Amino acid sequence: MPEKIYVTYNYLPQDRARAQQMFLEAGLLDVVVDPTLLSGFQKVCLPNEDTVSQLGLAARLQALPAPTVHRVFEPTARELSAARLLHMFVWIHHSHEGHPRPGMTYDASGACPSCGDGLRQTSPLMITGKEIPKSGLLGSIDDDVLVHDSLAEEMYAAGFTGLAFGDVVDMQGHALPWRQLLIDHPMPPMIAAARGLVRGRTGTEAPCVTCGCDGWFDAAAEPFIPAYVGESVVRMPDFARTAERFGTGQWARPVHGRRSLASRRVIVRPAVYAFFRARKLRGVRFTPVSVA
Ligand SMILES: [Zn+2]
Repeated sequence: MPEKIYVTYNYLPQDRARAQQMFLEAGLLDVVVDPTLLSGFQKVCLPNEDTVSQLGLAARLQALPAPTVHRVFEPTARELSAARLLHMFVWIHHSHEGHPRPGMTYDASGACPSCGDGLRQTSPLMITGKEIPKSGLLGSIDDDVLVHDSLAEEMYAAGFTGLAFGDVVDMQGHALPWRQLLIDHPMPPMIAAARGLVRGRTGTEAPCVTCGCDGWFDAAAEPFIPAYVGESVVRMPDFARTAERFGTGQWARPVHGRRSLASRRVIVRPAVYAFFRARKLRGVRFTPVSVA
């Protein structure tokens, strides 16, 4: 499956000569001859894995911090259509402010006392004026998906399983023409073949000491490719959430007076991908999940 490799770096103007030498040694002549790419924050595409190792070596020789490697997965429509499960992410009109959110109510009776996992939302999703999508049919709040009423109706008619539609209101409590996709079904834990995620180990990245469910993070060097064994696929509804919680829940010990929860990503069946693809909706990204 095709992967795009790129590096990011941020060199000081006085390191320009050494940066130039580094790119020369790695054979990246396009960068060598472009003075705008030799300092400041830059992002450059690499042709292959050989160049990745050459560049790392050259950075060491020039005593420069090695550029950070990112691998991005760019599946073709054919690969997506053939996938048995997919990861779904709505990137458009995206807000990072997850739960708990101001103005909303929650039931904490089943929540982990340390990380807050299991906190249950008991009110409509309340969003700020800035978070209300001004165009299109999609938006997202952390890992919660917002769909416009018109799209929600079509999704309802499609009869998807593992899905309910929650009300969305503005900060004054007035109903908005948007729905929150309520997805609860838990996937089993991923198998070791999963790529692009790492477990936090120390400090604020360490998993919850009480329940141990959170503390997962993206590994920028690799694309995110969840992996499951086949048996779990058979039993899942069209929409489900990962067992892995991304980020760390700050519940017992709020940071700067604010509590926050780790979040669970959305995994869907092929019918969901087909539905969105048929409508050519902008703002949602699907990537294949590996099923063994
Ligand atoms: Zn916990």
